[in-house]
Amino acid sequence: MKTTGYAAPRRGAALELIEYELPPLAPEHVQIRISHCGICHSDIHLIDDDWGMSRFPFVPGHEILGAVSAVGSAVKHLREGDRVGVGWQSDSCGECEWCRKGDESLCTAQQATCVQRNGGYAADVQVDARFAISIPPELPSDIAAPLMCGGITVYSPLRTHGVGPGTRVGVIGIGGLGHLALQFARALGAEVTAFSTSPDKATEARRFGAQHFVTTRDKDSLAHDAHSLDFLISSVSADLDWPAWIDILRPRGTLCFVGASPAPIQIPVFSLIMGERKLAGSAIGSPDRIAEMLALSARAGITTAIERYPMSQVNAGLERVRKNQARYRVVLEN
Ligand code: NAP
Ligand code: ZN
Repeated sequence: MKTTGYAAPRRGAALELIEYELPPLAPEHVQIRISHCGICHSDIHLIDDDWGMSRFPFVPGHEILGAVSAVGSAVKHLREGDRVGVGWQSDSCGECEWCRKGDESLCTAQQATCVQRNGGYAADVQVDARFAISIPPELPSDIAAPLMCGGITVYSPLRTHGVGPGTRVGVIGIGGLGHLALQFARALGAEVTAFSTSPDKATEARRFGAQHFVTTRDKDSLAHDAHSLDFLISSVSADLDWPAWIDILRPRGTLCFVGASPAPIQIPVFSLIMGERKLAGSAIGSPDRIAEMLALSARAGITTAIERYPMSQVNAGLERVRKNQARYRVVLEN
C-alpha cells in the first residue's frame, strides 16, 4: 500500500511531500491512520543529523496519535478503529532480561519510530502492536500526542527517582518537555521550581504547577538557590554551566539529563563527593509506564499547551520550535 509523508530530502533541508510504499503488514504489527503528530525537538536534531543516525529522505515524527486501520494476524489486544498513540520506540527484541521485566525502553535492540524508517509526519505508520498504546477516552488526540514522547520522557525519571510529596524538584527549560515536567512533578506532590531563559513564561509556568520561577539569563541567577533542590531535570539541548547547577542540589540530590546537550560535561568530582550528589540520564519509558502516565494525565487533568498546524504547514511548525517560539508544543494535524 502507498502512503504519503513529509520528508527532509537532505540534512537540515525543508520538508517536502513524498509518496512511499508500506510493506505488507507483519503478524505482530498494526497499521495506524495518523490524525496528529507532535513536533519534538529530537525531530529537529534528526533533521539536522546532529546524532549521525539519520537516513535521507527522512520523515520525522514520533508523537503519533491515530486510529488502528489494520491489525496483524498475531495481534490480540487491538482492533480496527481503536485510538492509539506511539512514541519514540516502536519495537524491542521481546526476549532480553529488560523486555521480560517490562523495561522495554532499556532493550539494546530497540527500534525507534523514525530512525532508519519513516515516522509520523505522514498519513500512515506501522509499528509493533506492543508499542501502540491505548489512549484514555478523556484525553483529546491533539493533547495526547505530545504525551507519547515529551510526556513520558519527563514522567518516567520522576517516578524512577521517587519524586513525591516533600520532594523539591527543579525543571530547567520550559519547552515541550519542561511544561509537562512541571505538571507531572506537581501532580506527584512535589514543590516545583521552573528555571527558564524566557521571563515571559513566568505566568504560564505557575499555571503549569511551578511554585517558583527563576530567570536564568545571567550567571548569578542561581546563587540564591544554592542547596535547595532534591531533583533537577534538564530538558535543554544546550550546554550549560553544569557545576553551577550541581551547586543548587541538596545533599543526595540528583541532576537528571533528558535534554540532549551536545558537549561532554565537566564537573569537579568533589561537588558530587560532598553531599553524595548524583548525575543521571533518562530516555523515554516503557509501554507500561506510558499507560500509567496517560491514566494519571486523564485523572489529574494534565494537559499539553499546543499550537495546531495542518500537516501541510510542517515547515512553519518546525520554524516555531527552532526559534523557541512554540508555546509549548506544535502539533501537526491531518
Ligand atoms: P523544546 O520544546 O525546544 O524546549 C527546550 C527548551 O530549552 C526551550 O523551550 C528553552 O526553554 C530551553 N532552551 C533552549 N535553548 C536554550 C539555551 N541555549 N540555553 C538554555 N535553555 C535553552 O524542546 P523539547 O522538545 O522539550 O526537547 C528538549 C530536549 O530533550 C531536546 O534535546 C530533545 O532531543 C530531548 N529529548 C530527549 C528525550 C529522551 O528520551 N531523553 C525525549 C525527548 C526529547 P526556556 O525558554 O524556558 O529557557
Ligand atoms: Zn521526542
